[in-house]
Amino acid sequence: MKLSSITMLVAAVGSLGNFALGSSTALAALPIRLQVVLHNDIPSPLRGDLEEQYLRPWIREMESTFGRAVQLHIRHNVPGLSDLDYNTPDRRYLVTTLTKRNEAFWAAKGDGKWNYRVDKTLLLVHQSVIPDDPSQNEVVGEARHQGTAAWASLKTYSAPGHELGHMFGATHENAEVLFNGWFCETYTYPTRQNVRSNCYRYSDRNREAINAYLSEVP
Ligand SMILES: [Zn+2]
Repeated sequence: MKLSSITMLVAAVGSLGNFALGSSTALAALPIRLQVVLHNDIPSPLRGDLEEQYLRPWIREMESTFGRAVQLHIRHNVPGLSDLDYNTPDRRYLVTTLTKRNEAFWAAKGDGKWNYRVDKTLLLVHQSVIPDDPSQNEVVGEARHQGTAAWASLKTYSAPGHELGHMFGATHENAEVLFNGWFCETYTYPTRQNVRSNCYRYSDRNREAINAYLSEVP
């Protein structure tokens, strides 16, 4: 069987906070708000099931594990984002642009109050980035550790949950392959091998890291 491996990068790794137990699943907790921008290169036939296939499993993981509602804001035709050249050689520019647009989006919404820990942006794209160096793998997403914005490709179902995980404090080092009748990769496992399935959840250690990150938010 041919193995395909894909690398999902995290641009910078910071330090993790301490694990704190979530103070029950308070109903008044601020929701996680996610702006999802669909790149113009996503073909129409893929758009119909996109939310169910790529985003709902992640939302179920977040809502059931951390007790916060997830609000999706899916957007099309956003100038400067839907047409962004994500294959640019300037990788820093890409994530910085997304980060600025995330701030502008939430600052312009409602009363303008936003919290970088729960108000995020994800650009979904159809293709991936092939590095110039042929020894390197296909890149299907990039995020900064605990950053506010990222991009992810539709080439693998786990890419959105992978990059979103980094934005909430999950790391490659804490990810695992689990066995549940068959091998599956938890979100943020660094290489995707298609002989294994997706767990559509974070490892226990990454759940602790995400919980610690979210515990700072009312
Ligand atoms: Zn990664």
